[in-house]
Amino acid sequence: MCGIIGYIGMQEAYPIVIKGLKRLEYRGYDSAGIALYDNDDIQLYKTKGKVAELENLVSETTVSGSIGLGHTRWATHGVPNDVNSHPHFSNSGDLVIIHNGIIENYAPLKEELTKRGYVFHSDTDTEVLVNLIEDVKKSNNISLFEALPIALNQCVGAYAIAVFDRTNPEEVIVAKLGSPLAIGVGAYEKEFFIASDASPFIEYTNNAIYLEDGELASIKLGQGVEIVKITDGQNVDPYVQKLQLNLEQIEKGGFDHFMLKEIYEQPNAILDTYRGRLLPDEGIVKMAGVDDHIERFTKAKRIIIVACGTSWHAGLVAEYIFEEFARIPVEVEYASEFRYRNPIIDKDDIVIAISQSGETADTMAALKLAKEKGAFLFGVCNVVGSSISRITDAGAYTHAGPEIGVASTKAFTTQIVVLSLIALRIAKEKGSMGHKDYHYLLHEMEQIPSKVKIALEENDKIKEIAQAYKDAANFLYLGRGFNFPVALEGALKLKEISYIHAEGYPAAEMKHGPIALVDEQMPVVVIATRKGHYEKVVSNIQELKSRKGKIIGIVPKGDVQVKQIADHVIEIPETLEPFTPLLSTISLQLLSYHIAVLLEKNVDQPRNLAKSVTVE
Ligand code: GLU
Repeated sequence: MCGIIGYIGMQEAYPIVIKGLKRLEYRGYDSAGIALYDNDDIQLYKTKGKVAELENLVSETTVSGSIGLGHTRWATHGVPNDVNSHPHFSNSGDLVIIHNGIIENYAPLKEELTKRGYVFHSDTDTEVLVNLIEDVKKSNNISLFEALPIALNQCVGAYAIAVFDRTNPEEVIVAKLGSPLAIGVGAYEKEFFIASDASPFIEYTNNAIYLEDGELASIKLGQGVEIVKITDGQNVDPYVQKLQLNLEQIEKGGFDHFMLKEIYEQPNAILDTYRGRLLPDEGIVKMAGVDDHIERFTKAKRIIIVACGTSWHAGLVAEYIFEEFARIPVEVEYASEFRYRNPIIDKDDIVIAISQSGETADTMAALKLAKEKGAFLFGVCNVVGSSISRITDAGAYTHAGPEIGVASTKAFTTQIVVLSLIALRIAKEKGSMGHKDYHYLLHEMEQIPSKVKIALEENDKIKEIAQAYKDAANFLYLGRGFNFPVALEGALKLKEISYIHAEGYPAAEMKHGPIALVDEQMPVVVIATRKGHYEKVVSNIQELKSRKGKIIGIVPKGDVQVKQIADHVIEIPETLEPFTPLLSTISLQLLSYHIAVLLEKNVDQPRNLAKSVTVE
């Protein structure tokens, strides 16, 4: 899940690459490195730790060069240290590489190369790859452009790479399989940018070429981009897209952290998600991706949702929503389990993949499997043009805007919105829902952004609660019905950014084990919405109180009963039950955020995590 960046042009590469690395740091921050080409020489700087540490290292010297490659790493092979950091040189020192992905068969390749006299300094698969390329190039006496496909065809795994050859310094070659790679086409003297996503180059150009899997591109200084297929060398016409992204969207805008900014963006993000799709006065939902295949949806025998992490939780909420609105059976699968299980998939099944980045490796693999078995594939992604959005038969974007904080917030709520809209669209077509309920839901959805704003007003109170419990070693999160997945998501959020152990459960399951953990040290966050089996949840709270648990209730405004027994309550506005996750989630996001800040954790870049999980 590393971030890669490159610059080939007439400007100084260093400031562009460093700034770009900071934007890509969400993808990994175990180490950072940069290679600059100047005067026949490649200067290489790399260090364990964040991009800021690389900057410190470089500040001790003078750097220059108008070709630069940079890398921010999330280690897969080899511990995060200076030596394992990218870029990596080949043995001759002529080739330099940056890589995002995994070369799965690196071990036999390494063995073979070692026999041929190659020496390895790092434990990475990437150093094996660059030496394999060198070996192919040297033993066949061919150019880098000719050698790369031969070498890559011997590799199993995933990669987005950029390779530079000191003996041909007018060119950088990139290739992609499984990991994302965008080429920014600048206007100034025909300069080019290479990056894992468009954020590093958006301030210079909004023209971008997204490489497809199995493509290799030669980028020549002041000239242009030539793309070929790795398998057979066939030429591909470069397709230059105009990007909608702007700089403001990827900066903090006065907030202390991206995560907080993104939590507060949710009213607008949700509005952007349903804008033009939700038409309550006309009584319709318009979604091209569903409209064009409506019969598929109405006749579907089953919907299988594949996802990972927070997106999997959105899938669980969608299970309740689809079954309630559209009366279609839903199964929610961890993509990583589904892909290796030989699952039973029918051609009448619809497989919905949910992924913020649209690049999640396991989800992609699950989709490929479902495609082979003839299912109809539908994608719910945030990143436009991402791999998942391209492989699926149809889809709907969440339009949440860039999410930079590693812990997902607005992506989750907007995924629920998109999935609710799909369910409503099908429900109308199938007539699976009462006319009145359907119209209530449409009108209520329109109120959600202003209700999220009200939920956010509890921020100060939530901060006080966070102060009271920040030193707890464990947390329990309980919810029922639509809010059971929210309990899971609340626990995940806390684990991710504060490193406090937390578990989410359906409230009634508590009696089947977790209650044994409850004592006066245990904070228990309980979501108690009015129509979410409220009385039963109140009984669950009583049971927890009898064991001296500390209760933090998430309750509807004006609630009396829970307030009487809980230690603290956080209020959310009333809404129709299926939409309560969109409000209860807000309180839990803020709770995790404040606990992590009080514990002085790195909220936007929690340890060991990275945002876009492009390795399995
Ligand atoms: N496999 C490479 C390494 O460990 C790249 C890791 C990645 O992209 O996640 O350095």
